[in-house]
Amino acid sequence: MSEALVGTPITGNDRPSKAFGKDRTCREEVCETRLSIYNNGKYCSLHEPMSVPRTRGKKIA
Ligand SMILES: [Zn+2]
Repeated sequence: MSEALVGTPITGNDRPSKAFGKDRTCREEVCETRLSIYNNGKYCSLHEPMSVPRTRGKKIA
């Protein structure tokens, strides 16, 4: 049969969708912060264990 799909021109510009899901919330149960679809972490910025809080004026030797 005809394989030509009319009406949908392929521009060759297929962008990669780097979304991780829409309805993900922070893994911390008490936290209901919705994660960004571009945030591949499991926690919001507040509970993200990887994020080291800035130690102002305190130098860690
Ligand atoms: Zn959180």
